[in-house]
Amino acid sequence: MTRPARLLRRSLQVRHVDAGSCNGCESEIAALLNPVYDAQRYGIDIVASPRHADVLTVSGPVTRQMREALQTTAAAVGEPRTVVSVGDCAAGRCPFAGSYAAGSGVDGVLPSDLHIPGCPPSPSAILEALRGLMR
Ligand code: SF4
Repeated sequence: MTRPARLLRRSLQVRHVDAGSCNGCESEIAALLNPVYDAQRYGIDIVASPRHADVLTVSGPVTRQMREALQTTAAAVGEPRTVVSVGDCAAGRCPFAGSYAAGSGVDGVLPSDLHIPGCPPSPSAILEALRGLMR
């Protein structure tokens, strides 16, 4: 369930789960905190604990090995929570989707509230999408 924007106006704490990504999406997410994109100036930060998070971002197709870990992490994020799928794999467009090890995206495990397309999406696209949750 999406949080009302008024609760997220000044700060957005993000917990990220790599659910079988190639790490391309993680490189772009990590760039949010560098001096060029500096997401912290908008009150956006990446946190280690899901219990401190408002938003759960997920990349990768959700592999069989990561399915339970994703569900456990999502359950640890307080309700109402916002789930954002990052990258084309997370939207079910992984080249290996449907194989024995790869799932078919986040929506097969958790309903996502927002999808950020791209392979990988640029840091500015990710930043803009996260800022959109605060408006
Ligand atoms: S969307 Fe592209 S960059 Fe992101 S995990 Fe999939 S293949 Fe890698």
